[in-house]
Amino acid sequence: GTADIGVTGLAVMGRNLARNLAHHGYVVAVHNRTESKTQELVENHAGEGAFVATGTTAEFVASLTKPRKAIIMVKAGPSTDAVIEDLAAHMEPGDMIVDGGNALFTDTRRREAALKERGILFVGTGISGGEEGALNGPSIMPGGSPEAYKSLGPILEDISAKVDGVPCCTHVGADGAGHFVKMVHNGIEYSDMQLIAEAYDLLRQALGRTPGELAEIFTEWNRGDLESYLIEITAEVLGHVDAETGRPFVDVVADRAEQKGTGRWTVQNALELGVPVTGIAEAVFARGLSGDVTRRQAARDLEGPIGSAPNYSLVDDVRQALLASKIVAYAQGFDQMAAASKEFGWNINLGDMATIWRGGCIIRARFLDRIRDAYAKDPGLPTLLASPSFSEALAEAQGAWRRVVSTAASIGVPTPGFSSALAYYDGLRRDRLPAALIQGLRDYFGAHTYHRVDREGVFHTDWSGDRAEHQEK
Ligand code: NDP
Repeated sequence: GTADIGVTGLAVMGRNLARNLAHHGYVVAVHNRTESKTQELVENHAGEGAFVATGTTAEFVASLTKPRKAIIMVKAGPSTDAVIEDLAAHMEPGDMIVDGGNALFTDTRRREAALKERGILFVGTGISGGEEGALNGPSIMPGGSPEAYKSLGPILEDISAKVDGVPCCTHVGADGAGHFVKMVHNGIEYSDMQLIAEAYDLLRQALGRTPGELAEIFTEWNRGDLESYLIEITAEVLGHVDAETGRPFVDVVADRAEQKGTGRWTVQNALELGVPVTGIAEAVFARGLSGDVTRRQAARDLEGPIGSAPNYSLVDDVRQALLASKIVAYAQGFDQMAAASKEFGWNINLGDMATIWRGGCIIRARFLDRIRDAYAKDPGLPTLLASPSFSEALAEAQGAWRRVVSTAASIGVPTPGFSSALAYYDGLRRDRLPAALIQGLRDYFGAHTYHRVDREGVFHTDWSGDRAEHQEK
């Protein structure tokens, strides 16, 4: 074979990734289950670089130079297993299969272990940035063994986005680590979008601003601390007018948010690890609520607030609430990566994750530089909220943040993202939490025992008898 690398699965992502590789001078073997797509790619883009069109899987594998490297870009799930099986049957020990789809990290762990037994290197890699990123430089999050990264890494770094000359690609950690951080990236993306949607909704409901006026506010915000891809495209979407009706585009789109599942996976895993990712969870639940047509219809006549409290500085207050809530959501996502890294022995460098998300991906933002700096100063930082740069930003924003949450509550605009982030902030900073009462109740009804603040040991109070305290251990 003569091809440096191969791509199988030529829908939008695979096609653009193959073109990106070709643009960087690699000879790229291309393959797709439905062969016409392979022909289409080569016919439309032959001038961009060197493609080797292949028909059967055997031809595809044979076209690769040894040790072979094949990237899978197919619909995640059982299709990925089928394609892996098909490829592996034609491969030899030392060859490599790379899965660039949005696989669940536990599937990636299983696949890596199974292929290792057959001597085939398997790299599950997160790729973010949609079709545009795949073509011009995505953020790439490869897992797998360090050995696999040695030969694959330089190619992926080559085709990734660059920020200040630094590639948005690094070896994340063993087996499923890459797909894990891609999952958390998507979870953070959910919370980012929820917070942006709350900011828009609140300003529109409270101040009666039009989508066009709000587009200008978001454009303005994009010049400051909030500068990010998502804020930038929020301005574009809000400013867009529907050609057919002449109405704002946001007013003709059905208000039911859909999802493909990575947000849900993030929350499910967070529950298992015991990490409170309230920002991501509220975002997933808010999408669920938006799609619950039956209950929304049934609840339409529920009573709303009478009158409202004025908040004269609402526009800038909302900007600050958005920033503060975003800091919380990211802190929670990074906590989840830290917990998983410990659980699975991945040794994830959290500062590196902020670094490779600065470009190429959907959550790319100026803000990530600050996360990177925070972990550079203190790699063992227990929470981003406690790093000086963020604790100062939160101190500055908290007054506005509280006004926004109370304004939203008083006028009846739901802000689960802003509100839960503030509750998390206030929960973490509390000296004493009412969890002490919960422990008392648990001991009362279930003899679940408790610890004391003033002595070592495990205690139980005889609630049904003389209420004397007994030391259990
Ligand atoms: P799709 O997820 O729509 O998948 C379509 C591709 O999968 C086609 O090439 C199709 O082949 C192939 N396929 C499906 N089932 C099988 C099977 N059983 N055997 C062989 N091939 C099969 O394509 P996308 O380009 O949107 O995404 C590719 C991957 O990248 C997915 O895992 C997705 O989650 C991930 N991803 C997508 C992003 C995006 O913005 N779209 C962003 C980041 C990651 P055929 O033409 O024959 O039907």
